[in-house]
Amino acid sequence: MPQTSEDIHARVVAAVGADGRLPMPPVGEWDIFPWEVVDGELQPKVLAPPVEAEQPRHGEDGQDCSTCASDERVIWRNERWKVTRGEAPSGLPLMLWLHPIEHLDGDDLDENMAAEYGRLQVRLSRIMAGLTNIGRVHVCRWGDGGAHLHLWFIARPDRFPIILGSMAVEWDEMLPPGPEDVWRADWQEVARKLATHEGDATV
Ligand SMILES: [Zn+2]
Repeated sequence: MPQTSEDIHARVVAAVGADGRLPMPPVGEWDIFPWEVVDGELQPKVLAPPVEAEQPRHGEDGQDCSTCASDERVIWRNERWKVTRGEAPSGLPLMLWLHPIEHLDGDDLDENMAAEYGRLQVRLSRIMAGLTNIGRVHVCRWGDGGAHLHLWFIARPDRFPIILGSMAVEWDEMLPPGPEDVWRADWQEVARKLATHEGDATV
């Protein structure tokens, strides 16, 4: 079961003290981070004119696609879909990803795949949200970084009024990672529960 929000708060206090501030995460250095400090105040960056063309994404047209190449972090699969975990625990209790096994983007799904995508999304989200101490599961599809469809399932802890909505994701890299054994038990439980509907837990 995921740690309680009191446990998560205790991790922060252990790292930086009760009134301490966690270090700025790498996102602050990213080109797409939309704010910067100007004259001591946080302000939106100046919007540069559009570039000539979109940059190719990782694995565009299936070339050197890491999702196709590796099943290392797969925790559940059926004949058409797989669910993967991260490499190690991160700040939020649990993040998982749903991908088609074939190299497809979201707009490539046929009617049957689209229907299955919908069912799996609801099941996985419901199972993760059913874990103790989880406030909500955010389901996101961006697709600007990798060309192989990957749907994010982001379980946020309950009862932190600042860890909400799209900003909950930012806390994943800020909060000190939780214990590995807890994280491992949680994704194993999710995989087993998903396999009660169909497919196989590979954990
Ligand atoms: Zn791929």
